[in-house]
Amino acid sequence: MSTDRIIFSRPRRAAGELANLEAVLSSDHSHGDGPFTAAATEKLRRITGAPHVLLTTSCTHALEMAGLLLELGPDDEVIVPSFGFTSTATAMALRGATVVFADIDDRGNIDADSVAAAITERTKAIMVIHYGGVAAEMDRLLALAESRGIAIVEDNAHGLGGSWRGRPLGTIGAVGALSFHDTKNVHCGEGGALLLTDDILMARAEIMREKGTDRARFLRGAVDKYSWQDIGSSYLPSELNAAVLDAQLADFDAIQAGRFRVWNSYAAALPDWAARNDVRLMRVPADREHTAHLYYLRTPTEQRRDDLIDHLRAQGISAPFHYVPLDSSPAGLKLGRTPNPCVRTAEFSSTLIRLPLWPDLTDAQVARVVEAVTDFTV
Ligand SMILES: *Cc1c(COP(=O)(O)O)cnc(C)c1O
Repeated sequence: MSTDRIIFSRPRRAAGELANLEAVLSSDHSHGDGPFTAAATEKLRRITGAPHVLLTTSCTHALEMAGLLLELGPDDEVIVPSFGFTSTATAMALRGATVVFADIDDRGNIDADSVAAAITERTKAIMVIHYGGVAAEMDRLLALAESRGIAIVEDNAHGLGGSWRGRPLGTIGAVGALSFHDTKNVHCGEGGALLLTDDILMARAEIMREKGTDRARFLRGAVDKYSWQDIGSSYLPSELNAAVLDAQLADFDAIQAGRFRVWNSYAAALPDWAARNDVRLMRVPADREHTAHLYYLRTPTEQRRDDLIDHLRAQGISAPFHYVPLDSSPAGLKLGRTPNPCVRTAEFSSTLIRLPLWPDLTDAQVARVVEAVTDFTV
């Protein structure tokens, strides 16, 4: 048996990357909003169906822009899943808003009952992370938000190309955010995008992205000079990032096919072992399409999770866990409020393990991972 290390994640190279980079570097234009920004934006519009797409320097920055667009301030509260990446919370805390933590459901998504219990008259937004690219229970969340005039912001870092009841993830709430960090399905090193449906928010967002100026309107010839219009920051990525992103997006179908091959292999090979060992596997309900961003399983206890990670490591397989609960983190305790204990987050976080998943993982490597996992008695 081969003992080559199987790493957890490796970004896939896209065919056109070097040619695109060469084109940017040999042009006079490597700052943002050039031809590759336009081309990548158009591809994202096609994949997501979003009327408005703005490339950003990261998903975190797209979420910061959401906070600016919603005019969050110190009197406001934003409900955030306690199981998630820090960006979702810190982008809101940066505006001075109080982060209010809600618990998750059995798929790792923000739980509507927990959200309902956390809403106050100060609640201005609900943050949704579609964990692993599997949509949250959007009907209940939309009903809660719409009846109270609360905005839903989708942190869709995992979910490019996913959908809920036919609706593309990232376009269901008022604002959607994508990540092109190199651990995500499509990447440009560091990058992101803001997805909007509302024309008025879009007009404001393109100013906020460009240091508060109407440079975008100037570039379209709509005004004869550009000037300071609004608050904003430098959220526009360079053409170098857009060039890599455009090449990656051109290969999107191949990237996804590679990831689904691995995901489907795990999903087909592990159920018998899981049933014998009281292990819960990642599941996707029939009314939503996922993105094969990650594959996780959950052991009955934290001790056995840690043992399984050690067992895999001994066989050269890297299988980490993630998301230390936000509600009990140092910043969460200082900047947030937790109306009800997030018990499912604590359980999810302490029993989860992620298997290696990237498009160029070979079938032989996938078979080795399956063999190593199913060798283990939980
Ligand atoms: C990766 C990730 C982010 C941050 O993305 P960046 O582009 O690195 O800012 C935010 N939220 C979630 C759920 C993520 O997985």
